[in-house]
Amino acid sequence: MNPKWNGQFSCFDLVAKTDDSMGSIVRAGSVEIGGDDFVVMAGPCAVESERQLLQTAEAVAAAGARILRGGAYKPRSSPYAFQGLGLEGLKILRKAREQTGLAIVTEVMSEQDVDLVAEYADLMQVGTRSMENYALLERLGTCGRPVLLKRGMTATLEEFLRSAQVIAMNGNPQIVLCERGIRTFETATRNTLDIAAVPVLKAVSRLPVIVDPSHAAGVRCLVPVLARAAAAVGADGLLVEVHPSPDQALSDGAQSLTFRGFSDMMDGLQPYLAIRDLERRPAPQLVAVGGRD
Ligand code: PEP
Ligand code: MN
Repeated sequence: MNPKWNGQFSCFDLVAKTDDSMGSIVRAGSVEIGGDDFVVMAGPCAVESERQLLQTAEAVAAAGARILRGGAYKPRSSPYAFQGLGLEGLKILRKAREQTGLAIVTEVMSEQDVDLVAEYADLMQVGTRSMENYALLERLGTCGRPVLLKRGMTATLEEFLRSAQVIAMNGNPQIVLCERGIRTFETATRNTLDIAAVPVLKAVSRLPVIVDPSHAAGVRCLVPVLARAAAAVGADGLLVEVHPSPDQALSDGAQSLTFRGFSDMMDGLQPYLAIRDLERRPAPQLVAVGGRD
């Protein structure tokens, strides 16, 4: 490992990789994240209706997704935008799990909602805006569910792992890290996908690392290529937004894939999953070879 990283990250001892520690496996329902499988989580940005979610759940399951995403509590940038269905949305997510067998990931925004969301979710999502909400992180330490921690949009990797350490210190080592793009001066995309974050986090941390190409791109045409890049650099999976009619979506329609677009994305990943296997092999030991005298 790069010695600089060792000094920088080793203080986060509950989430850092020590020489002898293997990567952790995180279990969301019956799905294992961090093992050999590339785990795709997909669904709408927001749960809008039973029909919208159940249709999407069927479509993403048929294309190979293992976990259904959908926000019931939405941290919207504008106070005038759709804020989510709340408890009604959680109940719709539960119904989708019963009908499809998919595990559920959904966002929790406040420590006051943790117990309620934990009744419905297999994986508790912490959004980019909440990465440094320490009251929430501390409460998630005792929620009894694994946590999907998204990188703050202006957070360094050190700050990201510091937040993971807070959850772990409070009793919960079942954490998945999610790179979702960071703010830079670039405006052609919504955020800048920090693809190097994946190999760095895999090197310094024992936690699984997934990529959200949707919130990084902000436009649907870039989502498949960023998803392929994530697989090629060795990510453990993806979080992708999919909607039955993206142009009518109440949230994040521009970056949401259609059902067809999602299934094409999944097909296009196949060769990159073979590259991922190569990328994830343990690095070969450097063997000293004799040089010329
Ligand atoms: C989301 O996943 O819909 C979301 C709000 O993501 P982020 O917190 O990364 O913006
Ligand atoms: Mn979204």
